[in-house]
This record gives sequence, structure tokens and C-alpha cells, in this order.
Amino acid sequence: MSSETLPQRVRLFIFEHFREHGVPPVVERLVTEFTLTRDDAVGVLRELESARHIALVNGTARILMAFPYSAIATPFQVRAEGRSYFANCAWDAVAFHAMHGDADVTIDSACHHCAAPIHIEMRAGGATVVEPPGAIVYLALKPTQWWENIVTTCSNTMVFFASKEHRDASDLCASPEQAATLTPDEVHALSLPIYRAKFAIDYARPGKDELLAHFAALGLTGPYWSL
Ligand SMILES: [Zn+2]
Repeated sequence: MSSETLPQRVRLFIFEHFREHGVPPVVERLVTEFTLTRDDAVGVLRELESARHIALVNGTARILMAFPYSAIATPFQVRAEGRSYFANCAWDAVAFHAMHGDADVTIDSACHHCAAPIHIEMRAGGATVVEPPGAIVYLALKPTQWWENIVTTCSNTMVFFASKEHRDASDLCASPEQAATLTPDEVHALSLPIYRAKFAIDYARPGKDELLAHFAALGLTGPYWSL
């Protein structure tokens, strides 16, 4: 007998469904796939939301986010393995590369300030094209604030800017202690322990100590990166 738990199996099913179809499974699909009552299927979804694997549309049992996948259109369009996806945020867009096992990834997004196109290609563990070359990922909230409301954090505060000048001109621009400015390569490195094993049945989000050690190994220290 398998020692896999129902939440583990449902979590992996959601991610594989997103990977194959670009959209999440609906509750009815989980009911039939896992032979559950509707209440039990909704209960598992709530459990996966509490464990920070997914986010539901507020007040419903519909899957909105299975990080990095988005069920709705966003400014973060990603192509990987011959399919098109929407990511939840700039970080999630870059994280497709780590999650899809270093598969070639193309990101088409826009500057959060002026809406100019931003095009990034990831290959073999790094960004091979960044257009415009000064494009950056901006995280406008501290890590300790991200999960206060992950839907608004992802949707509003983790963005691309075409340049640091456009970051500074944006209403989103916060003080350096409150925000982080990263290159696509830095975001890829940051994403590795969080996203790399999402298609393993026993995937677990890294704990606080593991994340802090990872931040430090990347040279990401100081007040912003404390948890
Ligand atoms: Zn701009």
C-alpha cells in the first residue's frame, strides 16, 4: 500500500492538471478522480490552501492559484514545454524554469510602470535573453508580509520593471529596507528550493530555517531578508 496521503495526491493532481491543461481541475473532477464526497473534496482544498500550496477564489472552492500557476489571465505569460500558461507574479513567471526541470521557458510580460513589453528567455539554469537588458523583478513587500494576503501580494506587489528608473517612478516604489530588486537570474536561484520539487508526491515547502540559510547562501542578508 502506498503511504501517500490524500492531500499529497490531490496536490500533485492539481499541479499535473495545470501543467497539462493550463487550468486547474474543478471540484467535481476531484470528486470523481479520488472517489470523494463534495464536502471531503472541498475540505482537502481548504487544507492545501492552509498549507500554502494553493489559493482559492475568496468564498468559493475554485482554485485560483497553484503557485506558480494562475487560473486567470495575468500580465505574466509563460511558455514552457510547448504550452502557454499564466503565472501569478514576476517571481512565479521566472520560477517556471526551476519547476519544469530547467525546460526552456519564455516569459512575456510588461513594465508595471509604463506597460512596455518585457521579454525573458530562461535556459539551462539562467536567463539567456532579458529584453530590455535592465529589466528587473521588484518585490514591494517584505517576506514576512507576503502571506498576510497572498492573492493581493502576488497580484499587486511582485512585478517587472523595464529599468530601475521606472521602478523609482512607480507608485509601488518603497524604501530599500521594505523592498527587493532582483535580476531574473537572482530570482531563479531564489526559487530553486521552493519550486524545484513541486512535481514530487512528497513535496514540502521549505521551512523558515532552510529559507534563511538559502537567502544567506545567495548573499541576500539584511533587514529585508529576515523572517
Ligand atoms: Zn516602464
